[in-house]
Amino acid sequence: MGKITIAIDGYSSTGKSTIAKQLAKALGYVYIDTGAMYRAVTLYALQNGLIGEQIDDNPAIVESLSKIDLEFRYNDTLEYSEMYLNGIHVEKEIRSLEVSRYVSRIAEIKEVREMLVGMQQKMGQGRGIVMDGRDIGTVVFPNAELKVFMTASPEKRAYRRYKELLDKGEKVTYEQVLKNVQSRDRIDSSREFSPLRKAEGAITFDNSDMGLQEQFERLYNYAKRVLESKKGAH
Ligand code: C5P
Repeated sequence: MGKITIAIDGYSSTGKSTIAKQLAKALGYVYIDTGAMYRAVTLYALQNGLIGEQIDDNPAIVESLSKIDLEFRYNDTLEYSEMYLNGIHVEKEIRSLEVSRYVSRIAEIKEVREMLVGMQQKMGQGRGIVMDGRDIGTVVFPNAELKVFMTASPEKRAYRRYKELLDKGEKVTYEQVLKNVQSRDRIDSSREFSPLRKAEGAITFDNSDMGLQEQFERLYNYAKRVLESKKGAH
């Protein structure tokens, strides 16, 4: 059966990656977490003292892009790919609240987006991918056969992320996480280049009151329907 491209966009901490991973596994597709790429660039900027008062118009960040090597390496045990920044495993570091604080500012930079979008388009060339982010259905793969726009109330999202961070041993408060989620939503939705928008033809998916199993089943059925209609069209 021909493979399709699945684009999952939406607000911060809507559980995009959890559902995208499950979906990729069930379909035998590759999952790509584009947020991890923006986070890794942010981590590099933090590690190299490139983040000061001025972030969005900072030539030092743009100049350093050629020194940043990003690679997803598949982890057989976890059954998904993990991010390596210049050869170093950075999965834990890129999920910290510190990186979350700056990532949306880094993601506003046009040159950063151009570089990462180019890489993402290359990764998805052969289809058979589930990619999540903020601009996948609008910019990276506007022709994706299945586009999903995920949303949930900010409080629910913040609570889920808060629990995740606590489990990882980070010392954070719910209020800090809620503030971060709201501020990223605001920056992501109002930035000049590729702002977060529902893509044309995308299905809105509000999972405020939905468990993981129900989310998975619904999305899997959407994917199956698209695959069936593709088969019928040949
Ligand atoms: O998905 P995640 O929350 O890890 O993404 C972190 C940040 O990276 C987002 O808040 C957004 O600013 C940026 N991002 C983006 N475009 C993408 C993926 C992530 O601007 N495709």
